Amino acid sequence: MTPPPSPARILVIEDEEALRLALADALAAEGYTVLTAADGVAGEELALSSAPDLVLLDLMLPRRDGFEVLRSIRRERTALPVLILSARGEEWDRIQGFEYGADDYLVKPFSMRELLLRVGALLRRAGAAEPGRSARGRARFGEVEVDFAGYSLVRGRTRHGLSRRELELLRFFLDHPGQVLARNRILDEVWGRDAFPTPRTVDTHVLKLRKKIEERPERPRHLLTVHGVGYKFSPEGEDGA
Ligand code: CA
Repeated sequence: MTPPPSPARILVIEDEEALRLALADALAAEGYTVLTAADGVAGEELALSSAPDLVLLDLMLPRRDGFEVLRSIRRERTALPVLILSARGEEWDRIQGFEYGADDYLVKPFSMRELLLRVGALLRRAGAAEPGRSARGRARFGEVEVDFAGYSLVRGRTRHGLSRRELELLRFFLDHPGQVLARNRILDEVWGRDAFPTPRTVDTHVLKLRKKIEERPERPRHLLTVHGVGYKFSPEGEDGA
């Protein structure tokens, strides 16, 4: 049996609440991991900090408009697929969108079905063209080798299966080595803002991960507790207190 591919992370930057929620629901129903932002500043920050695989970007946004957000995304991640969603249908806007580096453009109102088809097409194209993606297929730290596509990891001689959420959480830790990560930030970026888990959810998943990656889960060397804040991931392994 072929394991399911790792879910792509999609960032929705849209200030119109009803549309933002409808997009998040439709994408989550397709199995994507969804992050959302309601203005240009928050959207830009998430685009650059949360490693999305694709961005849906409104143009008329409070605080920073979509063109500016797109420009800063392009400075950092040239190959990240960006699909513009806009009420503006004029040719000039479309041309400007593409000149700023948008990959596709949909004029509101659009059908959710068409949006999902275009998202799928952009992700497939990016999967073939973006070399960083295959590099994310496997990761190694300490005695652990993670196989993202296979939803599993091997430590020593033992293979452990990973749930989708455990895999996403581990990827988030791997993307932020040595940083103190607050529970709320982990919730926002791994679970997404439209999900309603509690900070305890993070603790539960960390315990599960520790059993798979740590030699002695009760004395972790990679997934360290930062008391009162959250967690820190150490690829080399630290001797905990
Ligand atoms: Ca808008």
